[in-house]
Amino acid sequence: MRLSKLFTKTNKNVSSDETSRNARLLIQAGYIYKEMAGVYAYLPLGLRVVENVKRIVREEMNSLGASEIIMTNLQRQELWQKTDRWSDEAVDIWFKSKLKNDTEVGLAWSHEEPITDMMKSFVSSYRDLPVNVYQFQTKLRNELRAKSGIMRGREFVMKDLYSYSKDDVEHQNFYDEVTKAYLRVYDRVGIGDRTYVTYASGGAFTKFSHEFQTITDAGEDIIYLDKHKKLAINKEVYTDEVISHLGLTKDNLEETKASEVGNIFSFGTIKSEQLGLLFTDQNGDDKPVVLGSYGLGITRLIGVIAEVFADDKGLVWPEAIAPASVILINLGLSKEVIDSAEELYKTLTMAGIQVIYDDRDARAGEKFADADLLGIPHRVVISEKTINQSRYEYKARQSDNVELVDKENLFKILGINS
Ligand code: ATP
Ligand code: MG
Repeated sequence: MRLSKLFTKTNKNVSSDETSRNARLLIQAGYIYKEMAGVYAYLPLGLRVVENVKRIVREEMNSLGASEIIMTNLQRQELWQKTDRWSDEAVDIWFKSKLKNDTEVGLAWSHEEPITDMMKSFVSSYRDLPVNVYQFQTKLRNELRAKSGIMRGREFVMKDLYSYSKDDVEHQNFYDEVTKAYLRVYDRVGIGDRTYVTYASGGAFTKFSHEFQTITDAGEDIIYLDKHKKLAINKEVYTDEVISHLGLTKDNLEETKASEVGNIFSFGTIKSEQLGLLFTDQNGDDKPVVLGSYGLGITRLIGVIAEVFADDKGLVWPEAIAPASVILINLGLSKEVIDSAEELYKTLTMAGIQVIYDDRDARAGEKFADADLLGIPHRVVISEKTINQSRYEYKARQSDNVELVDKENLFKILGINS
């Protein structure tokens, strides 16, 4: 990617009505565009980050043996009426609309009901189970307050997974595997050390659900966490009973602000009973299917990562999800400098490294400031000076240390076998 060809531009002036730090930085750097409060478009660099996170999540979902699908955004009223989740009193974030013939439809805020109903077409015997499906979908929620940038969108990307099991044992095994897969995702995107399995409300069957909460001041939740046991309790269920049930003690719990980057639920057989998803077991008896539901907020996760790593110069992306690994800058427009930069651009790209080449005719200060704002992990500069010394100038985004390195060392830093 050449910056001269990228239509987005960095812009330090963001409207003061955008108060969240993640959105301000992402807008400044040209990753997102604000359509209205809580509604953001993803531009080329932002989309790359989204796709990188999705790739990691997809790998982990596939490792569970789940199949990827895409359900629809328009949903039938009757399905949600059967489970008492259609009314605005039951679910306060519905967007609803009507077909031309006045039939009411709901805009997808979640998918338990439609997927469970769909499974009636495919599941009838114990031989058909278990089934595990997931999707990446743009969810629509009419959130009352949308002041946390992409951490709380009225339109946002979620990965949602649904499990259909024969019995509680099969369900619980899968649930535990999903918990581990989620923790691997948070590790891989760089926030494993600050993300906690958290006891929370919700889940029709167990009364409780498990959230994954990442410590950040930008979070909207309060949790009480035990750093040693790596376990936390959401304020909403923080009682003496829950504390002792989890084998924790009040003295070891620390109150912290956090953001919910995932939430997994056991629904038991309630929804299958309400919607009529039954299967015949080995004895020929009809039984309702056991449902699990597992959400992970893709765009919220990106907002959280922006918040926790950014510094006063701009974004700082962990290598695994950065829109590029290297930002290559040429200083000066002499043929020598351009040729050398073009050559390195080609070599790195051929080696499978994602490079943003800042080939613009701009001042050094502007290029450096933009490289910092964009948050690309590695910065490589080529100038008359570096060429004369047969070196490259290298700086990591997270360090102030500027070094002159030869090609061999540069490749070593970037993890290329030469
Ligand atoms: P919250 O309590 O923050 O409103 P929720 O409990 O309603 O979230 P879930 O229904 O559990 O959300 O959705 C699964 C995941 O989707 C959440 O854990 C979160 O990561 C993400 N998510 C939920 N709402 C939003 C939103 N408005 N914008 C971005 N991500 C969201
Ligand atoms: Mg939740």
